[in-house]
Amino acid sequence: MSKSMIQVLDKVADAVISSKDYLTELDAQIGDADHGINMARGFTAVKEKIKTLTGKDAATILKAVGMALISTVGGASGPLYGTAFIRAANLGKDKYEIDAKLFSEMLLAAIDGIKERGKSQRGEKTMLDALIPAYEAYVLSLHEGESMADCLQAAASAAHKGLEYTKTIIATKGRASYLGERSIGHEDPGAASSALILSTMAQIVVNSKNTV
Ligand code: ADP
Ligand code: MG
Repeated sequence: MSKSMIQVLDKVADAVISSKDYLTELDAQIGDADHGINMARGFTAVKEKIKTLTGKDAATILKAVGMALISTVGGASGPLYGTAFIRAANLGKDKYEIDAKLFSEMLLAAIDGIKERGKSQRGEKTMLDALIPAYEAYVLSLHEGESMADCLQAAASAAHKGLEYTKTIIATKGRASYLGERSIGHEDPGAASSALILSTMAQIVVNSKNTV
């Protein structure tokens, strides 16, 4: 994978790490107040790992990211994000750049991995409520011939709308499901971290570029 992909992952990791308190605060409302701590720990490990992988293909890099997350994040979100990156990695063999179309395929593979691993679907107040609308918006923009940067902008904005929507629904998966109706009125922390990851990518991928 290109050096630029490693830079993107590194900046995504920085964004997650600096949102530690925000994500933990959200998890304090409807979970066990560790989502930011878990994610910051995981993405600190990711930063260390990817440093050593310059020049490798997307499969190698994304798999290493997934493994780092699974082994360090802990909590429900570790295996879920880990699976997401590993499923995306499966499409990255001998790819050194990710173009707009490949990214859409990777995002779909990641979502399918989370659904399978989490036995979850849209509407259950999880990260899927940010990721699935993001994927749909991305594909719509892609079909309209937009640049990768614009596709990512559309995805990020849909993810944030999805995050807002999680406020209005009851959690039926994960720890927040123990609260039942009391989970209403709060944003889902995993949806927040997913929206954050996508919006960071959208900010980084500059308009003129069509690959990462
Ligand atoms: P834990 O719930 O074990 O403390 P985290 O706090 O790190 O783990 O992550 C919680 C987030 O994980 C939730 O906000 C939700 O978005 C996501 N999540 C939990 N269970 C599932 C699931 N079965 N499918 C998809 N996402 C899930
Ligand atoms: Mg938690």
